[in-house]
Amino acid sequence: MISDVFCKIINGELKTDFVYKDEDFIVIKDINPQAPVHLLLVPVKHFFDIHAMIEADSGLFEKAFKVADKVAHEVGLTEKGYRLIINEGEDGGKLVPHFHMHILGGKRLGPKIVK
Ligand code: AMP
Repeated sequence: MISDVFCKIINGELKTDFVYKDEDFIVIKDINPQAPVHLLLVPVKHFFDIHAMIEADSGLFEKAFKVADKVAHEVGLTEKGYRLIINEGEDGGKLVPHFHMHILGGKRLGPKIVK
């Protein structure tokens, strides 16, 4: 069985306050925030990466964005905006081997790296 820090949070081994929780996703505060608001949206089911989520063809991608939008509204990010980030692989800077999306906001964020 695969176990990583997010699996441990989901199965209760690690105690964390949930910003949002349903049968498919949790949203938690990042332990090392890079902005005034820094949340992590994590699927309850373990998927290693984007590819694994696509392979599962579970409709979870669409729902991930819907949940991110809902939570962003709830925590007051939608007026001034926010940023969603998915880090993939070594070059992408991914540290935790469980798909997750960063939701960042609460200040004017730094420069975007797009190429
Ligand atoms: P990534 O580089 O996209 O894999 O980011 C993983 C993120 O998980 C980092 O921003 C970490 O600060 C965060 N993180 C690691 N452990 C925890 C934890 N126990 N609770 C909340 N966030 C965590």
